Amino acid sequence: MRKPYVAGNWKMNKTIPECVTLAIELREKLPKDTKAAVAVIPQFLALPKVAEVLRGSAIGVGAQDVYFEKNGAFTGEISCEMLKDAGAAFALVGHSERRHVIGETDAIVRKKLEALLKSGLEVILCIGEKLEEREAGKTQERLSIQTRAGLEGLAKADLAGVTLAYEPVWAIGTGKTASTAQAEEAHQFIRGLVEELFDKSVAQSLRIQYGGSVKADNAAELMGQPNVDGALVGGASLVADSFLGIVKGA
Ligand code: PEP
Repeated sequence: MRKPYVAGNWKMNKTIPECVTLAIELREKLPKDTKAAVAVIPQFLALPKVAEVLRGSAIGVGAQDVYFEKNGAFTGEISCEMLKDAGAAFALVGHSERRHVIGETDAIVRKKLEALLKSGLEVILCIGEKLEEREAGKTQERLSIQTRAGLEGLAKADLAGVTLAYEPVWAIGTGKTASTAQAEEAHQFIRGLVEELFDKSVAQSLRIQYGGSVKADNAAELMGQPNVDGALVGGASLVADSFLGIVKGA
């Protein structure tokens, strides 16, 4: 049985003190009997303080991105070791805003994923189709390209450190959510592909989060689907009560 995993991506929001305040509120209010794994993903500069506040709590801390080189002349970038030093346990790679706003390719996403695993950090690999791809009947093709580019050829054991997040680009920050049927269909497809690339046991253990305008009032239904193992939450993770409402639905 896969344990549901709910992660709040705070994106480029909140000052350091605001991040700390939200982390403290989550730490204080997260019910002791919470069944899901829970994590938050603050902006880089707030990471050390948020990690300090949440140390010893049931809430994990991750980073929104990473660079694959160890150190050197890469102005503006942050390495895996730097993330570990700051207290992160994992990082997102391939978030749609990195792919489509910053222009990251599948090849870059793969390098980042490998660097994270090599350094002992876990990964949430985000994949998802654009609206025009869905409308052209190319959802599975896009998911297949991104999943293969991210995972094909990894050792089976590496998959223990990977969570996938299916995030249809048209649903992120738009208020439009995939229907439960659309989400389940995509998750089932991705799990089948992982089985093809690895084996049944790897595919069955892999957690696949759904992301795209998840809110407290649609969370339980989405996460109630057999292949939806949690949520990657943007906007609704910026307020403790709405994020905790989603965690409750897991
Ligand atoms: C996200 O940032 O990954 C996300 C899904 O955002 P939102 O929940 O705001 O759509």
